[in-house]
Order: sequence, then C-alpha cells, then structure tokens
Amino acid sequence: MLSYFKNFFDTVRTVFEGLSVTFSYLIRHPITIQYPDRIDYRVQDTLPRRYRGHLEVDLDICTNCKACERECPISCIAITDSDEPDKKRWMAEFDIDLAKCMYCGICSEVCPTGAIRHSQEFEGACYDPIAMARHFVLDSPMAPFKPTRGGETDSALARKVEIGKDYMDVFAQPK
Ligand code: SF4
Ligand code: SF4
Repeated sequence: MLSYFKNFFDTVRTVFEGLSVTFSYLIRHPITIQYPDRIDYRVQDTLPRRYRGHLEVDLDICTNCKACERECPISCIAITDSDEPDKKRWMAEFDIDLAKCMYCGICSEVCPTGAIRHSQEFEGACYDPIAMARHFVLDSPMAPFKPTRGGETDSALARKVEIGKDYMDVFAQPK
C-alpha cells in the first residue's frame, strides 16, 4: 500500500517537473529570429567563407580549361566555345543551372584559378526553374585568361587573381 502511494506521488511530481521546464519558456525572451523582415543585418554577411551558396564565376580569370564542366557529377555547367575563326577557345557561353546544382563544391575545388566559387548567397526561390539558370557570358565571346609570367601588370586583373587565390587557400586549409 505504501509503495502504491509512493508511486502515485512520484508520478505527479515528475509530471510537474517536466511541465515546469515547459512553462518556464512562457516567460523567457524568444530566441528565434524572424526572417527575412525583422532583422537589421544581412544573414549572408554572417555566413562562413566556406559556405556553399550560389555559384559565381569571374570570367576575367577563367582559363576555359573546362575542368569544372568535366567534373560536375550532374552536368550543371555548360561551356561553349565560340565558332568565330579569330576567337578560337573564346567562351561563347558559360552557363550554370542552379536548379540542378547540388552545391557539392567539386567544380570550385578543381578550378585552377578560383574563377568559379561559391558565394554566400542562398536566396533564389522562384516559380520557374528556367530562371535558376545563370548565364555568365553576357554579350560577346570572352577571351580565356592567360596568366602573365611574373604577375599581372593590370592592377584590376591582379586583384581578381588574388581574390581567386584567396578563395582556393580558404578551402585548402584543414577544417
Ligand atoms: S557545385 Fe557540384 S553540382 Fe553544382 S555545379 Fe559544381 S560540381 Fe556541379
Ligand atoms: S571556371 Fe575554372 S575550372 Fe571552369 S573553365 Fe574556368 S578556369 Fe577552368
């Protein structure tokens, strides 16, 4: 009989113990953040460098080696060479289908210049998957980048080369 009442009181006590944790949340300050309209900073700016957001390509430092296109396991990248005779190996199209991309990072890992890289951008919801295709050659064919022995003399291009190297260094570091 004694054990019956002991079990009964233990049951009631543990139920209230559990509920006390639940009720404590009624008077705590909420820690969830409403997105996207109630924060005063860009979430993208808070993401780590290794974050794999939407791919971006800097064609000014792209050698048109096509390593990214070859290695992509699901063929999201399509690079087409120009058929103009005086623009051999120039890029007429450099497209990435972000609707197919699984953000595995292989393309950016194999790129020798850091031209293709993941950004911190992740917002891309749209109603039509066609709108997820990114076209990096905009008007006329782009000449492939040829590194200059001894470093680039054009300061803007040298800066782009540095950004590409910096991106590759971040991913080369141990996690
Ligand atoms: S991140 Fe992966 S799936 Fe996406 S384009 Fe690069 S290699 Fe292809
Ligand atoms: S983005 Fe990089 S891997 Fe792809 S073609 Fe250009 S240089 Fe080669």
